[in-house]
Amino acid sequence: MKAIVFRQHGAPDVLEYTDAPDPTIRPNEVLVRVRACSLNHLDLWVRQGLPNVPIPLPRIPGSDVSGEITQIGAEVTTVRVGQKVVLIPGVTCGKCAACLSGQDNRCRQFTNLGYMIDGGCAEFVRAPEVNCLPYPENLSFEEAASIPLVFQTAWHMLVGRAELQPGDDVLILGAGSGVGSAAIQIAKFFGARVITTAGTGQKLQKAKELGADHLINHKTQKIREEVRRITNKRGVDVVFEHVGTATWEDSLASLAAGGRLITCGATTGYDAKIDLRFLFSRQLSLLGSYMGTKSELHTVMKLVALGRLKPVVDRVFPLAEAAAAHTYLESSSQFGKVVLMV
Ligand SMILES: [Zn+2]
Repeated sequence: MKAIVFRQHGAPDVLEYTDAPDPTIRPNEVLVRVRACSLNHLDLWVRQGLPNVPIPLPRIPGSDVSGEITQIGAEVTTVRVGQKVVLIPGVTCGKCAACLSGQDNRCRQFTNLGYMIDGGCAEFVRAPEVNCLPYPENLSFEEAASIPLVFQTAWHMLVGRAELQPGDDVLILGAGSGVGSAAIQIAKFFGARVITTAGTGQKLQKAKELGADHLINHKTQKIREEVRRITNKRGVDVVFEHVGTATWEDSLASLAAGGRLITCGATTGYDAKIDLRFLFSRQLSLLGSYMGTKSELHTVMKLVALGRLKPVVDRVFPLAEAAAAHTYLESSSQFGKVVLMV
């Protein structure tokens, strides 16, 4: 089969469009003919290499897959050959206490397609049967592949961890990112008031179309001052963080007393400081979040099929141009998802 393979970590030019062996499925797995695979920031990190995370090489990247099932293992009973499918990116053991309690994103063996195992930047990918989601028939393949990782991440952050309430004021950083554009929709769905940030007027306009109530241009305005003005000096109940060092101080300063800061990543750096006096006297909660559970993604897909949550596709590239797609995602000029068509 044709696939994107990297044999060493580095810049986008380590991604080769080449021939790779067809995957061989296990009895509990399905083989999927990939039609679309969307990119995530995770793809950039996996390609670049992560400190203290030895990723087996060569590797086929790609976590977010839509396509058709072409083969099923002997133990597979809930899906059939020929069925359209969207894959849950997270692969777990399915047997440990975390998995059995439905908190499979806390499984010690948790990984994603395209991370410690091969992913969907290829004509075929193998995945466990339990990773098959019902296909939302109202979506094209590129739209369907734009849902899983960012929506499950944003859902787990806002709903699973920050316990978003109707009427909460929420600051969502980076409206143009995949998780940002998903988070705006989820927060609005739960009846929150959304303040969001982006670096261009064009991105802010798109954020408004997704339902954001207040817009901050982080290049020309100070986030904490705008949040203070919008909330009558109170601050927000929830800050949705994934930017890291560049926004950390503004994020903390934007919290109301009793506010919750939830973070899933740090695209601009991992170093962050906090004044502990500020943390306890303001009774703040700092929450970490990692991916999401399979069950949460089933809920998300139900809402997508009903048209209540929508994929945001920015740009589509052919699989052979994966390196160009990575370069484009690294430039942060997108609004929503960058997708490879296979
Ligand atoms: Zn497990």
